[in-house]
Amino acid sequence: MDADIDEAIKAGKISTLANIILTVVKGVAGIAANSTALIADSLHSMIDILSSLLVWIGIKIAEKPPDKEHPYGHFKAESLAELGVGTAIVITALFIMYDAVNELILRKIPEFEYYAIAAAAFSVVVNEALARYKISVGLKTKSSSLIAEGKHSRTDVIASLAVVLGFILIYFGYWWADAVVAIAISILILQIGCEILKNAVDVLMDRVDAETALRITNYVERMRGVESVDFVGVRGTWRNKIVEVHFTVSPGVSLEEVEEITEKIESIKKEIPDIIDVIPVVKFSKKISKVAIPVNETGEYSGDLNSPYFEIFDLKKGAKIRIVNEYSKAERRKGYLIAKMLRNFGVDCIVLKKVGEGAKSHFKNMGIVVNIIDNNRSVEEIVEEVKEANR
Ligand SMILES: [Zn+2]
Repeated sequence: MDADIDEAIKAGKISTLANIILTVVKGVAGIAANSTALIADSLHSMIDILSSLLVWIGIKIAEKPPDKEHPYGHFKAESLAELGVGTAIVITALFIMYDAVNELILRKIPEFEYYAIAAAAFSVVVNEALARYKISVGLKTKSSSLIAEGKHSRTDVIASLAVVLGFILIYFGYWWADAVVAIAISILILQIGCEILKNAVDVLMDRVDAETALRITNYVERMRGVESVDFVGVRGTWRNKIVEVHFTVSPGVSLEEVEEITEKIESIKKEIPDIIDVIPVVKFSKKISKVAIPVNETGEYSGDLNSPYFEIFDLKKGAKIRIVNEYSKAERRKGYLIAKMLRNFGVDCIVLKKVGEGAKSHFKNMGIVVNIIDNNRSVEEIVEEVKEANR
């Protein structure tokens, strides 16, 4: 394992060293031969060093734990670095474009020099070797970032090949080839810069990671006792995510159960390793909205589950309906079936004279509070009492 990390780091160092050499060789040859394309390719190599440096900075910053002044961690420092480097890269690309367009307008023709074509060819060979090396070490050490870097080196091969092609075209008298190749490379550089900038802006603007947010919403919504998920925010970089979950628990859920729910939510960290912190925010839905009262044929409070009807009072709207208790004569799972039926009507409180443990837990699981009123009061009096307690 550790040997793998060492090998991946070594590959990164070799790649950086190779790119430094390429930057110098192409830069010197490009200036000497007056070739905008070769200078652009040299700058491209330099930018590749900068972007791998950013990855390294990101890893270093992620290691730094939150402190008193920065309780949310330091990951935005990486984004600030990206903002600076990204801007520099975009400006570089625009400079190359400006130079190349000037070259076209002024019909400047770069000298055809063998050392320049040799420098570009050298870059093709080195980049191809780097690509193969990084991909093979990446596969061996299972480092996706190294594999991505290896694939990027393939792009570098193509860019340098274009420079070689440009020189060949110049040799045959196509004077515009150097400028055209330089413009193509500048577009490649612009793309790298914009990607880095976009990354930084997304993090700084707390752009939500929709995929992770959806995953968490689905996970929390399915938990027993959770009435609704009200807000899920995912902030941070792609490898340092901070998740905030606001949810409402059903009435009747105990504090111990809330604790269990929040612990479960926090354990998302173990399932999704990019998440470094989870902040659960709980709201209690104490307000009862619909109360069910069992009544007999004459409409009097009966207080048990064998009653033929339920009167359901909507406390918010002040409306009431009477429904038939389809399960008054059920022999098995009566509590469960009635709880489910009432839940379908949106009931979150039931008033009974007494209740067995089994039925009670079924009501609780459906988010229905059981209120015990063990005397012969009128239905209206009971509703008033529930309203009073709900205030
Ligand atoms: Zn590149």
